[in-house]
Amino acid sequence: MVIAWQEFQPIGAIATTPSAVRHLQPLCQAVGVHLWIPEALQADFPDLPVYSGSLKDHLAQIWPQYRSLLFGLATGAVVRLIAPLLKDKTTDPAILVLDEAGKFTISLCSGHRGGADRLAGLVSHMLGTTPVITGASAHLGLPGIDILGTPFGWMRGTGDWTGVSAAIAKGEPVRVIQEVGSTLWCDRLPDGHPFRFGFAESAQTEAEKARVWISFTQRQFSPESEVPKVQWHPRVLWVGVGCERGTPREVIEKAIGQVFRAYHLAEGAIAGIATLDLKADEVGLVELCGDRNFPLTTFQAHTLRQISVPNPSAVVDSEVGTPSVAEAAAMLAAGAEQLLVPKQIYRAQPEEVPVHAGKAVTVAIAQAEYEYTARLGQLYLVGTGPGNLDQMTAAAKSAIASADAIIGYSLYIDLISPLLRPGQIIEALPITQEKQRAQRAIELAQWGLTVAVISSGDCGIYGMAGLVLEALQAQGWDGKTPGVQVFPGISALQATASRVGAPLMHDFCAISLSDLLTPWEVIQRRLTAAAQADFITALYNPKSQTRTQQIAIAQSIFLQYRSPQTPVAIARSVYRQDEEIYLTTLEKMLETPIDMLTTVLIGNSNTRTLGEWMITPRGYHLGQDICQPED
Ligand code: SAH
Repeated sequence: MVIAWQEFQPIGAIATTPSAVRHLQPLCQAVGVHLWIPEALQADFPDLPVYSGSLKDHLAQIWPQYRSLLFGLATGAVVRLIAPLLKDKTTDPAILVLDEAGKFTISLCSGHRGGADRLAGLVSHMLGTTPVITGASAHLGLPGIDILGTPFGWMRGTGDWTGVSAAIAKGEPVRVIQEVGSTLWCDRLPDGHPFRFGFAESAQTEAEKARVWISFTQRQFSPESEVPKVQWHPRVLWVGVGCERGTPREVIEKAIGQVFRAYHLAEGAIAGIATLDLKADEVGLVELCGDRNFPLTTFQAHTLRQISVPNPSAVVDSEVGTPSVAEAAAMLAAGAEQLLVPKQIYRAQPEEVPVHAGKAVTVAIAQAEYEYTARLGQLYLVGTGPGNLDQMTAAAKSAIASADAIIGYSLYIDLISPLLRPGQIIEALPITQEKQRAQRAIELAQWGLTVAVISSGDCGIYGMAGLVLEALQAQGWDGKTPGVQVFPGISALQATASRVGAPLMHDFCAISLSDLLTPWEVIQRRLTAAAQADFITALYNPKSQTRTQQIAIAQSIFLQYRSPQTPVAIARSVYRQDEEIYLTTLEKMLETPIDMLTTVLIGNSNTRTLGEWMITPRGYHLGQDICQPED
């Protein structure tokens, strides 16, 4: 199953007519959608699960099982069916509707937090439908304010989310005060977006109609406030904890809560808990981390004792071998040189805990530069095909649509721009910086993002896939984290072949004439071997502005072994707007313009032309000799 769909699983679907079933059926096998049909359709679709009785009752029964539900029904019917079951946009499933004609996929409910808008995009790529997204933010080309920080693992804080969303929908000025966390979300905002950044100039500029705080502070918004406000909390705070053996989880939680309240800090901003390795099995700590999804990071005493802290303790040193646990662990986990909150000691009252339980907890807090995303990164290595979106696989489209970040050469990013959605991070780098591109993708994935690295054609054929995997290997990758998935694409040689007929019908090879990463002698040896062995040969990277001679040498090598009349196809920008295709011969091929956007396809000794077509027979005709080299 394509990983891109995982966050929406389990996905249920219901269709009540044969055509709706047929439209939705491709999703069952491809991505594991569970499609329910009424008993009346059982004879036509014997493999699908059947519900009996009323659809209303069936839906009520399956409602809690699915994270997303797809209906092949009229929207009116769907609205009536789901109305009694909807509770809250934080917990309701994503609801989508596919129209009877199979033309549209409508994101009906839970578009943002439930992910229905994004799922409608994925379904559309898979089924060839048009996604219908009716939310205002999508229309404005903005990420929803209530899902803005999701890729970075930020926690949604308190506030009037509906009020702020409404102001954004109206295009009213919204003040954004970001104190911590990634600013990658602002890199690609559309012109005329409503956000006004920073605090200082607010008084002078137009009156703000809403405010968004991005910080680790817990702000109390007054209900009388003139403008709606919300707060996001990037997880940048590492909480160092020391405690007596057997301290109950409630006591540790209370201690942390008290310190956070005293310093006006948001618990949503907690990245994780840090402590001494002896505490890795401390039951209260382990329980707390499990319940609240905090990572528990532990350090050895000799590592902790190297950190210079404001409040060392000789007693602690004599007990566990380091003068500081909470302070040193917080600083180490955060990679910070100072503390945000120095050691605070909390003592539970005797009546709060059982007689022999631990009672004392120390808490210290340090701030990390980068937020903890709590996500396992993914790298999608995607081949986008020769150019036109029609020539790209549905899986590759889904991968691009679902990625948090897309990295690639700017020309290829332009070619796939219709697939991009608001809020995605797009990093286009110049063509010469492939290694930097691979490095950046790995960096973002290690931080927790899902990153699509795109190459034209197939990404594993002179593309980015190898560079990314090579770089991962050099960094001691374990083969699992970040996860990697490769999405194949139609390579230039196939695209070229398709435009001239069937030239690749017999054994063939590809040779890149670029000697940037391969010594020219090696390339020359391969050209000779290919020519000698009568391989049909696709020449990639045939010529650049500075590299002009290699194609002439290649031609002369082939002329030693093949007839000057051998058919040659020269294809430039295949499946792009400025496509040019020429059929010529080996002896005349240099008369045709050739550049870096061109693929040269040299036929074998048997290849023929017929009008505009180039055809290589499937087999050799008996008695026909392969051309011998001239002495
Ligand atoms: N990964 C790509 C190849 C990248 S190397 C693939 O599988 O197709 C770049 C070379 O590919 C170009 O110099 C050119 O030779 C060829 N190429 C890529 N796209 C092309 C297109 N649309 N038309 C013709 N040649 C193309």
